[in-house]
Amino acid sequence: MDIQNELVWSHSRGRAFHDCKRAYWFNYYGYWKGWDASAPPAVRELYLQKKLTTRAMWTGTVVHGVAEAGIKRAIDGLNVESTPEGLDGTWTLDEMRQAAFRKADADIRGSASGEWKRRAAKRTGFAEHYYDLPVSDDDWKAALDEIDRQVVNLHGNRIYQRLLVTASRIREVEELRRFAVGSGPERAEVYLAVDAMVGDGRGGVVIIDWKTGGNHEDAVIAAQLGVYGLYATQELGIPEDRITAMHVNLRHNTEARHPVGPSEIAAAREAILVGMAEMRSSLKDVAANLADKEDFPTLPEGSSRCGRCNFRRSCGRE
Ligand code: SF4
Repeated sequence: MDIQNELVWSHSRGRAFHDCKRAYWFNYYGYWKGWDASAPPAVRELYLQKKLTTRAMWTGTVVHGVAEAGIKRAIDGLNVESTPEGLDGTWTLDEMRQAAFRKADADIRGSASGEWKRRAAKRTGFAEHYYDLPVSDDDWKAALDEIDRQVVNLHGNRIYQRLLVTASRIREVEELRRFAVGSGPERAEVYLAVDAMVGDGRGGVVIIDWKTGGNHEDAVIAAQLGVYGLYATQELGIPEDRITAMHVNLRHNTEARHPVGPSEIAAAREAILVGMAEMRSSLKDVAANLADKEDFPTLPEGSSRCGRCNFRRSCGRE
């Protein structure tokens, strides 16, 4: 069966479209079918570059995986043995730390040896290895230490602990959802995955968003949570005034409550429809979702973003 490359809006896709048009093309069009062993080498390389992570991004991936495993274990009781990430669903702090370390250690080894490329869809590949960057053992140890520190923060976090004891009310944990916004020619398909959503026992929901990085902009977080609110109202029938969104930063051990009401939800809807219209207008053939590379320009030479772009080799900016 021939899989179609569909135009589906997501928060990350919307941001990518504005960060660099050429990187957007590489990430959503150029890589297509690069997973196939018979793909042309240039396409295969774009696929591998699309899959690359960095220590900073990967810290978040591992910590999110531990949070997901811990919450799913609470939901399913003792029968959960593993998650799609391969992390054991654990309860004690020590078990969580060990699971995180096992996953992290395997990721580093698999990437350093290049073995990840044989199963790039499932395995972790680091830009640090792919681009042969000078990263010392101490740098890797610091990344492992940061993961461990954030797992300890997660375990001690009051919201995480609250989720564990209210597991019967949890509605979603990291499920990839797809839903439609608008109708007619402006209709947009949307992907999202909520870190955790729990019923508040009074007809509303609390949406939890784990953050693990050092620099998260409030406006970006608010926009993302607005999309979650749109999903909750439109697809789950939650009243607009019964949604609470919590952003928990596990790096800084802080939390913040964000308003998600009618105005935030309307803004999210508008952002999706406007963003989708922009993406469509960049296509050669909207019905077939065909995009011509030459319609997606590079950033000016010397742009700081290029130095950390996953596609810098294929882009000629290595
Ligand atoms: S290297 Fe720079 S111009 Fe090229 S895709 Fe990446 S960000 Fe865009």
